Amino acid sequence: MRYVSTRGNLEKSYSAAEAIREGMVPGGGLFVPESFPKFTLDEINSLKKLNYQEVSIEVLKKYLSDYTEEEIKECVEGAYSDINFSHKERTPVVKVEDEVYVMELWHGPTAAFKDMALQLMPRLFVKAREKTNAVDDTLILVATSGDTGKAALEGFKNLKGIKVVVFYPEEGVSQVQKLQMITTEGDNLTVSALKGNFDDCQTGVKDIFSDEEFNSILKGLELSSANSINLGRLLPQVIYYFKAYAQMLRDNEITLGEKVDFCVPTGNFGNILAGYYAMEMGLPVGKLICASNKNNVLTDFLQSGTYDKKRDFHKTMSPSMDILVSSNLERFLYHTLGDADKVSKIYERFNRDGVFSIEKQELENIQNIMESGYTDEDMCIDTIKNVFENDNYIMDTHTSVAMNVALRKKTERKVVVLSTASIYKFPSSVLRSFGKQGETEFKEIEMLNEITGVELHSAVKGIDKLPVLHKNCIEKDGMKEFLENLIKK
Ligand SMILES: *Cc1c(COP(=O)(O)O)cnc(C)c1O
Repeated sequence: MRYVSTRGNLEKSYSAAEAIREGMVPGGGLFVPESFPKFTLDEINSLKKLNYQEVSIEVLKKYLSDYTEEEIKECVEGAYSDINFSHKERTPVVKVEDEVYVMELWHGPTAAFKDMALQLMPRLFVKAREKTNAVDDTLILVATSGDTGKAALEGFKNLKGIKVVVFYPEEGVSQVQKLQMITTEGDNLTVSALKGNFDDCQTGVKDIFSDEEFNSILKGLELSSANSINLGRLLPQVIYYFKAYAQMLRDNEITLGEKVDFCVPTGNFGNILAGYYAMEMGLPVGKLICASNKNNVLTDFLQSGTYDKKRDFHKTMSPSMDILVSSNLERFLYHTLGDADKVSKIYERFNRDGVFSIEKQELENIQNIMESGYTDEDMCIDTIKNVFENDNYIMDTHTSVAMNVALRKKTERKVVVLSTASIYKFPSSVLRSFGKQGETEFKEIEMLNEITGVELHSAVKGIDKLPVLHKNCIEKDGMKEFLENLIKK
């Protein structure tokens, strides 16, 4: 399999290893596969006998044709091991009520769905460096509003040839998220708070990437990022769509070929895009349902054909979906419009004006694949409470956004709601749906445990007692200086 640019601006196609090492297309644009590999129904049927790691190999080997099966196996077994995942299914599909299911993507080491990709991607990355004969060490810079930082630290810790530096906004992450990051062990990891908000972190990191003078100071280091536009993060997410379908087949919840809908709580559009890849590969999917919170720029786009980021930004109870520019949408547009020139023009306009539109026919094509809807804050709280009372199933705020949309959009097909975080990752908001509040987040975790009886996630167990290893805190404009000092050491 070869990879090309969504904007048609590459002289030649790339291998998977080259694309993963590069991250983004150098002149702007994202790497996409030249075509979609296919699964027949028979092949899909045979997946029901396989465990998660084995399904992973079947899916990945169609994309990573420059990796040997042995290399893929080694990466997959490290990523989805018993040490990292407590649940034997890895991404269990739970029946919540008639025809409504939840796929839980948070049984990994940091309790958020980011683990599904960030456990595997770093391992694919190390192999990509070897396969493309990288000499210099790689420096991965991460700006995080919470979940990505910890998942990246866990994924990259102690990997050879790679250093990771994570910046988080001093006041912008929860107590649990902060402790998760600053207690991470690993001799290749650095974490620092920044006196600013998430945008300041992200802008700082972007500046560093485009600062050639500064890049020349980083002698012997190659800069890269772990963000969700890297191909190495997209491909691992395709796996669990196949695994969910195979599990439902095995458990006689569906029959072979029966179409299923997937409803996805969406931010940067990476998770739902992976569902679209699965669909194009032959998985029987009815509709993909794109669920947003109050930052409903995607709902508006999927209903009107106009994407307009010039709007108020809302801080919500589902912070990992508080996004106005969904980067991975570019890939979806490339595949559905089938025209790199058009995508290139769209993003030229978007970068200039903050808005773009597609034509009526193009929108109709997209609507045949994807439904959309959004959930406001009150509905989010109510849905957590109602589903717990009616079905005895408790979910976090991100999952609730999608559950609410799924229940409103329900068709004659079965629907699987993707659950992206453990309730213990966002305890305050979940507790609020029971009209309760605790003095600290740790108290709230205990209260939630008492009310729901759901086993504590290992990611939060005893975390307030771990030693703090990363005490750095820098000024808003201090990133470059901080990195310079770090490199000198
Ligand atoms: C990252 C994240 C999302 C959004 O996923 P995208 O792939 O960016 O659309 C949703 N929920 C949680 C908990 C997340 O961490």
